[in-house]
Amino acid sequence: MIKNVQIIDSLLRERFGIPYKQEIPPEPLEMLIATILSQNTNDKNSHKAYLNLRKVFPDLNDINGSNPREIEELIRVAGLTKQKSMAIISLVSAVSAEEIQVSRNYLNSLKDDEILQKFTSIKGIGLKTASCLLLFSLRREVCPVDTHVHRILNRIGLVKTSSPDKSFEVLSKVKFDKGTAHSFHTNIIRLGRSICKPQKPVCSQCPLIDICKYSEKDLSESTISRGGDFMLLDHV
Ligand code: SF4
Repeated sequence: MIKNVQIIDSLLRERFGIPYKQEIPPEPLEMLIATILSQNTNDKNSHKAYLNLRKVFPDLNDINGSNPREIEELIRVAGLTKQKSMAIISLVSAVSAEEIQVSRNYLNSLKDDEILQKFTSIKGIGLKTASCLLLFSLRREVCPVDTHVHRILNRIGLVKTSSPDKSFEVLSKVKFDKGTAHSFHTNIIRLGRSICKPQKPVCSQCPLIDICKYSEKDLSESTISRGGDFMLLDHV
């Protein structure tokens, strides 16, 4: 599988380039909260919600003990307000009660699996959020799997799975070369937003067409979508 991952990564780099990566990675708590906000919405709205939150809580730990309604109002633009505010409050209160530690030094001493297990035990934090912490904040070679990544990996034939979490399980066995997990993950999402869309993939313009095993390729000359290059988790 690693060979195929390398081929896909290189084809996507040729098309989209090497994705932007922040010089200084965001702090773990910042990344976890930004990822919670990013669920089921676009990056523009989740970024707005994140900025609203930071304006009132420059220190995110201060969210602990605040009124859930206030959090809901601040993040409303990102949708799923109750669910997301509950997840954020559960996380911050677990940190405050020292049930979980988010210091970079401490997390750096743990293995990927240990971190995933610790954070997914918090209500409202799933495998995708915990794996984004690993990739974007701790710079581990791990590829989080959202709906875009799950759909595309199945279409290409790299995995045959029924859910993003199952795809992550398969992908987590891959030993990514240094720096590859970030470009692979980010460029797959770009592909999913612009070319390999859920309803109508524009296969005629896809850089992966020669290796993709999808049986329903659409080879008509359609236009690909522009924009959507802004990635929230690289701008936290
Ligand atoms: S060839 Fe089509 S189905 Fe396959 S990855 Fe590209 S756009 Fe998606």
